[in-house]
Amino acid sequence: MANTCWTLTHDGEDLTHDLVVHYATEAQATEHATVYGLPHKPRQLEGPCLSVDCSCCAYVFDEDEEGFVHFESTTEIEQLLPEHGWKCDGDIWVCPTCVAGPCDREADIHG
Ligand SMILES: [Zn+2]
Ligand SMILES: [Zn+2]
Ligand SMILES: [Zn+2]
Repeated sequence: MANTCWTLTHDGEDLTHDLVVHYATEAQATEHATVYGLPHKPRQLEGPCLSVDCSCCAYVFDEDEEGFVHFESTTEIEQLLPEHGWKCDGDIWVCPTCVAGPCDREADIHG
């Protein structure tokens, strides 16, 4: 799924947190810029980025819960997700809740 996200800049520089949060719309980014206070400004990214969702419960990796945490490369995904308790199974990912299990996918009960 190709999505071009928005992120926030500070004094014209991209933020340099470990996990940079992305927003789906400029309005969302602007709203959070207000929360962080000026001089944060929304900036649209150049291209689509990668997101990861759990192959079991479809939970999207989103540590911050205020926006989306996305990745620039699969290498970055492979490095970061295990640190957050995610497990790789071939080329699919399973979230910590589902790793802990047990899950009943038919009843949509996880962990
Ligand atoms: Zn993004
Ligand atoms: Zn899951
Ligand atoms: Zn599950």
